[in-house]
Amino acid sequence: MRGESAAEASGPTQEGREILVPGGHGTAFVALAGQLVEIVDVEGQQVADFVAFAERNRTEWLSTTHTRSAILRLTVQVGDRLESNWRRPMFEILRDDVGRNDIITSMCDDRRYLLDYKVEGHRSCRTNFAEVLEPWGIAEWQIPDPFNFFQNAPIHPDRTFGNEIPTGRPGDRLVLRTLMDAIVSVSACPQDLNPCNGFHPSPLVIRIIDPPGEIP
Ligand SMILES: [Zn+2]
Repeated sequence: MRGESAAEASGPTQEGREILVPGGHGTAFVALAGQLVEIVDVEGQQVADFVAFAERNRTEWLSTTHTRSAILRLTVQVGDRLESNWRRPMFEILRDDVGRNDIITSMCDDRRYLLDYKVEGHRSCRTNFAEVLEPWGIAEWQIPDPFNFFQNAPIHPDRTFGNEIPTGRPGDRLVLRTLMDAIVSVSACPQDLNPCNGFHPSPLVIRIIDPPGEIP
């Protein structure tokens, strides 16, 4: 990302079960079945690209295609179960303060910035995912299409869709219940050349929360 501060360039920091993801960076972690994953839009207007793989078998991953087919809708909302490519539920949405999520568009990548914006070396969600998933042996080509939480891509009556400034306000959050042990990765999308993140990528906080009654 152009113009990032020295602090942002240092990458994500983790304290206990809370991860601070600087704008334009990514993180990966394991979430066990029953745990909650909370994603906080710290400053507002920030998209959280989200992918996941089954912890015990990397050929099973969270699938936007299969989720759309299961819910018969082009976006997700509270109560939805997000499905894997094996048609098994991986997450359930428990809370969604923003109420706008995109499950249609691709993540940003090197080629997007080079072809459409003539910018070389721009950070991207795809390189974020590739970097943080590499320790789990997941290669760049294996990264599936993302769930773009908080992304404002309104679907118009003629079936075209837009790309507008997100409506998320500071502190807005989305909470998922994990239904299957998973390797999870989140990217605070670095896109600063269109309205996707309000032209200003900003941090996310991720919290992995044990279910009530369990001693941390
Ligand atoms: Zn992105």
